[in-house]
Amino acid sequence: MTTTKAEPRPTANRYTFAGEIFKKPFEIERTEGCFLVTPSGQRILDAAGGAIVVNIGHGRREVAEAYAKGAEEAAFVVPPFATPSRTRLVDRLLDRWLPAGLTRVFFVSGGSESVDAALRLARQHHLHAGRKSRYKVIGRDLSYHGVTLATLAVGGHSKRQAGFEPMLLDSPKIPACYCLRCPLEKTYPTCEVACADALVEVIERAGPDTVAAFIAEPIGGSTAGALVPPDEYWPRIQEICRHYGVLLIVDEVMTGYGRTGRKFAVDHWQITPDILVGGKGLTGGYAPMGAVYATEEVVAPLIEAGEVLMFFTYSAHPASCAAADKVLEILEREALVERAAAMGEVLHDKLSVLRDHPNVAEIRGRGLLFALELVKNRETLEPFPKAVDLTNKVVAAGLSKGVFFYPGGSPPAQDVITLGPPFTITEDELDLLVEVLEYAITSAVERLEMKGAG
Ligand code: PLP
Repeated sequence: MTTTKAEPRPTANRYTFAGEIFKKPFEIERTEGCFLVTPSGQRILDAAGGAIVVNIGHGRREVAEAYAKGAEEAAFVVPPFATPSRTRLVDRLLDRWLPAGLTRVFFVSGGSESVDAALRLARQHHLHAGRKSRYKVIGRDLSYHGVTLATLAVGGHSKRQAGFEPMLLDSPKIPACYCLRCPLEKTYPTCEVACADALVEVIERAGPDTVAAFIAEPIGGSTAGALVPPDEYWPRIQEICRHYGVLLIVDEVMTGYGRTGRKFAVDHWQITPDILVGGKGLTGGYAPMGAVYATEEVVAPLIEAGEVLMFFTYSAHPASCAAADKVLEILEREALVERAAAMGEVLHDKLSVLRDHPNVAEIRGRGLLFALELVKNRETLEPFPKAVDLTNKVVAAGLSKGVFFYPGGSPPAQDVITLGPPFTITEDELDLLVEVLEYAITSAVERLEMKGAG
């Protein structure tokens, strides 16, 4: 049977991940460089790198070819066996990427899986070292570690936890390092990073011999938006963890593989976590993949006990490993981590036109991870009413002018726009990004005010 009329694609609207933004189905036919391309040929600048994922840019044929070769070489092999693509990737990571001390590697299929596996690893470490009472994992307010039930629990993202609370294990929290609205009502530097010292109090209250690990993002992701701590923060956290025998898990799912202008964000402060987890940028979006890296000391009790960290079926998938190896090779060959640092400075300068905008409370970030916190009143930091959903209105306004921004925020940082473009972005593209961002914020606020909703 033939149809003469063009039918709308029946499944298109099932893929809209934010119904409020996309009142009608939003289709992307292909992607190239820093752009998403719609079926009608409209080019949308991907200022978010998807979900802060796409670091080498879209449409790299050599990655697609590496992926195909990896699949041809080995379709599926149980994760514990070595394959050429797995071995190459591990060698590259150990030789050129990982912070010193992290010598053990475990691959998974994404960020949530990597955090989940890290939590199991921390528990198994203590269990097999004879410290059975240690199982609690302390997290931070205003954080995100994934969407499985275990990772939601250790995170502090109230929007994403909403409704699931009865299913989440209890995880003690320390305050976020969030100077704009300091949860401890202190001011830097006279605070002497009291938000880091809060870890002492929470460990003591939980009972030091019950705490297995502390987990945090080195630079906050999109929850409150690119929160960069002062330089004293991370060394102090590391010191506290060491003192109490609590494993330090650093979540670099968003910040890893060059996003903040260093290979890993911990490199800004030369700290060595016991466990580091990554995702997103490992394959730059070309394949679903995440990783858990650990020190010999963390893994030793498992080995001595003859135990393993149970894999997922798709752990270390050969084609994904091949894609990751090629993405890292491209980052090295084109010096893209250095470029992320340099273009981050350029973006920072260009964003200064928004510094005095009446609805921009703060612009923060490092490398090519930035966020703007939006408020109704920048003096009092009063947010817009939650119901008006300013963030998604800004994202929609940006899309209408051909730029995709990443929606973020969780109260009290209610409205946050996150920026994480490919490291290959040019100065002209950054000009477009900033111009449309200014338009999107201003027009979204004006429309609210016209409706009397602001
Ligand atoms: N951890 C952090 C810091 C993240 O930013 C994210 C995702 O945004 C995750 C974990 C979860 O990763 P995924 O969505 O790949 O499961």
